[in-house]
Formats: sequence, structure tokens, C-alpha cells
Amino acid sequence: MADMTTDVRYVRGIGEARAKSLQKLGVTNLRELISYFPRAYEDRREYRRIADLAPGESACVRAVVAAEPTLARVRRGLELVKLRVVDESAALELTYFNQPYLKNTFRTGEEYVFYGKAEGDLLRRRMTNPLFERAGENRVTGRIMPVYPLTAGVSQSLLYKAVRQGLDACADELGDFLPEDVRAAHRLCHVRYAYENIHFPADDAALAVARRRLAFEELYLLTLGLRLLRSRRSSATPCACKSVSLDPFYAALPFTLTGAQRRAAEDVARDLSAGRAMNRLVQGDVGSGKTMVAAAAIWYAAQSGLQSALMAPTEILAEQHFQTLSPLLEGLGVRCALLTASTGAKERRALLERLAGGETDLAIGTHALISPDVAYKNLGLVVTDEQHRFGVAQRAALGAKGSDPHLLVMSATPIPRTLALMIYGDLDVSLIDELPPGRQKIDTFAVNTSYHKRIWAFLRKLVAEGRQAYIVCPMVAANDELPDERKAVTAYAEKLQREVFPDLAVAPIHGKLKAKEKDAVMRAFAAGEIHILVSTTVIEVGVDVPNAAVMLIENAECFGLSQLHQLRGRVGRGTHKSYCILVSDNDGEDNKRRLAVMTRTNNGFEIAEEDLKLRGPGDFFGARQHGLPSLRVADFTCDMELLHEARTAAEALLAADPALTAHPALRARIDELFELKAGTMN
Ligand code: ADP
Ligand code: MG
Repeated sequence: MADMTTDVRYVRGIGEARAKSLQKLGVTNLRELISYFPRAYEDRREYRRIADLAPGESACVRAVVAAEPTLARVRRGLELVKLRVVDESAALELTYFNQPYLKNTFRTGEEYVFYGKAEGDLLRRRMTNPLFERAGENRVTGRIMPVYPLTAGVSQSLLYKAVRQGLDACADELGDFLPEDVRAAHRLCHVRYAYENIHFPADDAALAVARRRLAFEELYLLTLGLRLLRSRRSSATPCACKSVSLDPFYAALPFTLTGAQRRAAEDVARDLSAGRAMNRLVQGDVGSGKTMVAAAAIWYAAQSGLQSALMAPTEILAEQHFQTLSPLLEGLGVRCALLTASTGAKERRALLERLAGGETDLAIGTHALISPDVAYKNLGLVVTDEQHRFGVAQRAALGAKGSDPHLLVMSATPIPRTLALMIYGDLDVSLIDELPPGRQKIDTFAVNTSYHKRIWAFLRKLVAEGRQAYIVCPMVAANDELPDERKAVTAYAEKLQREVFPDLAVAPIHGKLKAKEKDAVMRAFAAGEIHILVSTTVIEVGVDVPNAAVMLIENAECFGLSQLHQLRGRVGRGTHKSYCILVSDNDGEDNKRRLAVMTRTNNGFEIAEEDLKLRGPGDFFGARQHGLPSLRVADFTCDMELLHEARTAAEALLAADPALTAHPALRARIDELFELKAGTMN
């Protein structure tokens, strides 16, 4: 007897080789098989008379085999089976390539249904490789058929046959995670009906019902999971800060904050003294000055003796934050420390002691900040920079270190509102929708490699004017191997130095360098000692060198829109006119459209919306990076109402049963989806 956990090789027609191919699609057992949903559907319900077939259209015809099929060997490796079929209106010629056995499959005088694309003209109607089955069978014709995302070695027909068998074998076992009353209240069909009809819809209405049910389930589970993660944080009341004026902080800054920065800082101050845990997202485009809002929050917390942790996604960024923040904050009496993976053992021990003893007010670092051996005396505020790079679980783990610290999340990837709502749930949002004064629009160009000469001349001119440039180097994989970023970047930089800019300082930087070396390169670049920095995307996030005026991106087709926008945000941070040059020889429509978005707008929110449209929500964040389950059915861009319903239902359930003890199956499913490891959360 098969069940959900049975290996896919249970399915007829799937052996070792195909099982391996299916594994690439994430399908190893029957549950994964039947949860592999179609990406589209093909409507094969329409029957045509042969005489009515329009060239180019796909349709079913019901026709009788008029004569014995013939087999011809055209040349080595090419065998054609040809046959003539007729209905009451006309005749149709069929050709099958390289399936010689079909000669003996078709019986003269018998009726079949063929589905394919009509070709030819009124005198000679043809179809090539049409699907077929005996009339009345209705397995692959006469119905709406699923279209699955494929990979090498896995065909549509293999998949739908396999899914059919999978459903037949274990659909009865499909337990419904959704409580009965939720199903009733939201008019949702049973999970069995949903699985059957998402794959093999009886008609459009059945498909809509199935889709709605599955989308609801995804959004419901996602909401429940996020809420559970959040509720695992200690429920102790957080320390309320005493209410103080931000003026001393403002007065210490080398510039006047923008109105939007001030509003955000004051939102934060209000939250911190409100007597409940702050949960705030600060969203602002690259360069909008989010770091100063974080600084304000840290300063404010320190006024009440609370420690803060500022967690950044990369060492470079953590170090840079340390370099900008510590002079400012130390001057205001906030004692800062930098803790990264490369902090030496001795230094680390001393640092941890000071942190545990409360002699350090702010710890800046990477994931190292949540290592088990890091203890705080009085952690009151956790700031995560560029939070979309942290998993939800990591965020919660850091939260668990304090007595329910306040959370401030800084995001530079403008997140479409719908997504933010879903992912951050009950976060409050401060929007920094204003750039510091004096910024100029970054002119962006999309060109192909034939422009390199002109680009080099342009770089030379700008460097002569005192500016600096970033080049993000191609990471093109030769065959299937992972590209070696170190080699790619170093070779590129050397070649550029040797052949184009022998008189300038060109230096590579990449993630494989030791933190110290990286730091040295970044310092040299910031000090203007390096003219052209050749980099991988390690500079993508947050790095700030106002004198850099050119961002040149090779093989721009390799990057997502939001990533390109982030990279572009590395320039235009000072008062100099800045440029972004996107080089790509890929002239596919998709790529051209993406690059056109970049040249058209500098607005991160607009770009994020486009990105969402072009890539779909599943890819938007890279679900895995995020620790969130990916959505297969639900679509943030059009399921807003359903999202609202699902959230309401999830909240109602949690209000009645906070740990889902009365719903063990549901709970187990959520733990599995969120990969909640014991330990991480409690
Ligand atoms: P992001 O929002 O991308 O994190 P940053 O906080 O790194 O932006 O700020 C970008 C640059 O703008 C930094 O060099 C910072 O010192 C500067 N900056 C921030 N706020 C202001 C302001 N109000 N006026 C002038 N410059 C500012
Ligand atoms: Mg930043």
C-alpha cells in the first residue's frame, strides 16, 4: 500500500533515472508529487470538425484511421510514421517522428481523438505528433490538462501520468489541515477535491474552487507560522524607555535630518516609551539615510540604560556601520563594540564579558551576534539592517536573548505593500520617502559589450575629475560548475589593470577574502587610494563611499531588478553626478524589458513592483533565504481579499488555541513548512 511518504519510484514508469530528474523539481515522494502543481492549463475540450480547423490553432478532432499507417526511414535517426484519418467533414494527415512502434498502435477503421496544432491548408490539413487516445477515453483530450514546470528528463506526459497515479494511490489519505468550521465559514472545498481539480480540473469553476482553497491554505499556514514564530518571543513586558527629547541626538549630527528621517526617528521614540514591544519596519530607498534612524533608536534606548544589538548581513556592512556609528554614538556616551566571525578569540572573550556585564551599550555584528555564547546584560533593542536577508527564525532567536526586546527592522529593498503586510504582519511601518538634499538623479544606460571602449574612456575621464568607480564583475559559470568568484574577479581586475588602466589603481574585492583584507580594500577605496574597485555583489548592500560616481555592471542579465537597484544605490550618495552602466549582450525580450525599467526609473518602489510582476512572488525574496515557505498557488498581487480572509481566520484560531494544541496535524504541518527546529525557538 502506498502512502504520502512512499518514494516516487512506486509510480509506474519512474525508475532510477527519472526519479533523479524529478528530484531536481523537489519531488521525491508521493506527497511532493501530488503537491507539484501545474503552472498553467491547456484547454483541450474543444472538438473541431477537420474541415473547420484553422491553421495554427490547437484543437481536438475525433477521427477514424482511414488506412494502414506507413513507416518511412528518411535518413539515419529519423523515422516517420504517417497516417491518414478522416471525419465526416474532411481528411487529416498525421506525422509522428521517431516513434516507429506507432505503426502498429493505430487500428484501421477505429476512432481516436487527436489533439495537436493544425497546419497546412484547405487541401492538405496536417498535424505533427498530435496526442491521441481512443475516442471516449478522455484521459488526455476532451478536458482541461495541466501544464507543469519541467526539467531535463521530465516530460509533461510523464508528469501528468505520474500525478494521476499518485493521486489515485493516496488522495484518500489527504487529511484536511483546515478546521471544518474554517472551511465552512470561508466556503472552501475539501482538500481532496482541491488536489484533484488543481491537477485535473473538471471545468473552469472546479479549478477556481480548487485554486481558492489551496491559496487560502497557503496564506493561512503562512500567517499561522509567522504568528507562532512571533509568539515564541518572551512574553515579558519589555522595558519602556523614559520619554526624552531627541534634540541632543540631532544636535550631534553633522547634517540636518530630512523630514522623513525625523518622522521615523520620532515614531521609534514613541514606540520605545510606549510600554509594549516595538515592532517597526523602516522602509526607505537606498541612500535615504536609514542608518541615522537606527542611530536615533540606539541612542534613545541607551538613555534608559538599555543595550542594543545591530545585526547586518555581511561583515563589510557591519564594519562600516561600526565605523559610521561608533564615532557619533561614542561622542554621545554610547559604548560600541564590533563583533564578527573574524573577531579574535581573546578580543571576543573580553568583548563578551563587557557585553554581559553591561559595559557595552551597542553590539554591532553579523550572525555572530546570535551565537549561543553571546549573552547580554539588558538587551532592549534589536535592529536588523537589510532584514530581508535574515531568516525569520534568526530574527526570533535574537529576540529570544532579551526580555522581549524592541525590534527595529530596516529594509532597503522597497517591498510592495502587499508583501510587507504578509511577511511582517503586524509590524508598524515608517516610510522614508525623501532623499537627503543635494542628490542628483543617477543616469542609467543599458548597452552591449561593443560599448566597452567608450565606457573605458568615460571612466578615465571621471577618474581624472577625481571620482571613483565600481565594477561588478561577471560571474559567468562555465558549463555547470559553480563559478569561482575569486578567480573571476581577480582575473577581470588584472586584465583591466594591465590592458586598459595601467596608470590607475584597480583592485578586486570578493567574499573569499579574509575580513581583514576586505576591510583593508574597502578602507583604501573609501580613502580614494583605489580608483576602480572590481567586485562581486559583496558590495551590494549598504556600502557607502560618496565619491564613487560610476556603477558598471557586467552581465547585467544575471541580476534581478531589485539587486540591480541595490547595486546602483552604491553611487549617487554624494553630491556628484553619478552613472550606472548596465552591460549585457543578452537581447532576450525579458532582459530588455528589465533593463528598460532600470533606465526609466530610480524609484525603488516602482522597481520592486515591476520585479514582482516579472518574477512572481515566489522568487521575490528567494524563499529559502528568508526561511519562509514558498507559495505555489497564492499570488500576492491578486489574492488580497483572500489574504485578508486567511489572516482573519488565522488570528481567530490563535486567539482560541494559541499553541494549536487542539490542532496537532495543523501544527505539525506548520512546523514542517517553517522548518522550525526545536531549540531555535524556545
Ligand atoms: P541607507 O538608507 O541606504 O542605509 P545611509 O544611512 O547609508 O542610507 O545614508 C546614505 C548617506 O547619506 C550616508 O553617507 C549618510 O551619511 C548620508 N545622510 C544620511 N542622512 C543625511 C541627511 N539628512 N543629510 C545629508 N546626508 C545624509
Ligand atoms: Mg543602509
